[in-house]
Amino acid sequence: MAQAPKALDDARGRLEAIYEHLDVSEDAQVRLARPQRVVEVSIPVRMDDGSLQVFPAWRVQYDTTRGPGKGGIRFHPDVDASEVTALAFWMAIKCAVVDLPFGGAKGGVCVNPKELSRLELERLSRGYIRGFYDCIGPDEDIPAPDMNTNATIMGWMADEYAKIARAQYPAVITGKPIGLGGSAGRVEATGEGALEVLKIYLEQQDKKPEDLTVAVQGFGNAGYYFASAAQKLGLTIVAVSDSQGAVHSKKGLDVDSVWRHKNKTRELKGILYSETSVDEEKNVDHLSNEELLCLDVDILVLAALENQITEDNADAIKAEVILEIANGPVTSNADKILGEKNILVLPDVLVNTGGVIVSYYEWIQNRIGDYWPAEKVNERMRERIGREAKACFELASEHKVDYRSACYMHGLKRITEAMDHRGTHGYFIGDC
Ligand code: NAD
Repeated sequence: MAQAPKALDDARGRLEAIYEHLDVSEDAQVRLARPQRVVEVSIPVRMDDGSLQVFPAWRVQYDTTRGPGKGGIRFHPDVDASEVTALAFWMAIKCAVVDLPFGGAKGGVCVNPKELSRLELERLSRGYIRGFYDCIGPDEDIPAPDMNTNATIMGWMADEYAKIARAQYPAVITGKPIGLGGSAGRVEATGEGALEVLKIYLEQQDKKPEDLTVAVQGFGNAGYYFASAAQKLGLTIVAVSDSQGAVHSKKGLDVDSVWRHKNKTRELKGILYSETSVDEEKNVDHLSNEELLCLDVDILVLAALENQITEDNADAIKAEVILEIANGPVTSNADKILGEKNILVLPDVLVNTGGVIVSYYEWIQNRIGDYWPAEKVNERMRERIGREAKACFELASEHKVDYRSACYMHGLKRITEAMDHRGTHGYFIGDC
């Protein structure tokens, strides 16, 4: 079995190919080859049994030419500096693709959060803010949730920031609970934004949602909201999976009922993570995660994590279209194989931007102190992601490139123009 490439090498490798289609100054290419800032801290946490544990944590600001850094914080046992850097790089591209005034950043803690009690998790989350207080802020770098972090954790973090600053700065973090200045429509934004991109693609191809079947890998926050909205649009969701397994029904699953079942223990026990898997669902077929990826469906949605389709399994994929909600779920080698099989990939740097778009709206609302209803947030998000999706699709047909290359071209053009517009002040210190 070929070893999956490091997400960071893979992400940077794609740039070389894009530069062939885009006139990018050599200075900009050199700047984008490495992150601007990588900060590592150790977070000490007093555990409930009195022992002390230390968790390695990172904040990476990949590029802040277009504005303050923006990017989520991931809690996962596999997190390391390289993964956080890759995710920060993708954030820089994403924010530019949908024209947000932000650069790309990301954070992570190497921890299995499911092994921590709620109070230990709160101490760890507060520790993250103490560790990175000097490099985050509403005008410097604005964190948000990512895998295994959520509104509750963002609330603890915003509170810790306010305590250290001795002032309220709600715009320091997005994805907060509504009661602490969070935005209506944030939780569902990533899934619903992804559906908007798919809808535009289907309209352009003259395909009807009710004729199409979908399998979703990763039935978490993003995957569920996508699946629920997609079902309402008429698509048939035939399979969903989480880290423990997959369920399948040829005539279609009732997405909301599977979600309610998955969250039953979590809600009953008042804990942050679900202890139930979709795999415990009755009256449906059960599949392995690998089997779900290879189902004969029209659309395969990847909403779990990186490196899920590699050169080892790309050949077995039967879907016609892959929708990337997770970051980096298809490696560049797999991309080539999928391309040869005429499987179309709608890429992460466009598809999953609904969340960061609404985070941007949350940041605006916090700064102006005026809060918008969910309909206005959702309508503005769909209008923005739709406009930028159409621009990327046009670029793809104009330059005869795949959608991923077109999205990178679209975002990189904005980043490199901003770099060039900054003038020559820092020329001799390499800071321009
Ligand atoms: P989440 O933790 O809520 O859900 C992830 C789901 O994937 C969980 O159900 C988990 O059990 C499942 N999973 C993990 N490993 C799996 C595997 N090998 N096979 C099948 N399922 C597996 O996280 P989320 O917020 O939904 O994020 C999912 C992905 O989307 C991540 O890559 C994240 O970076 C990306 N993303 C999320 C947002 C957002 O706003 N939530 C925004 C942009 C990108």
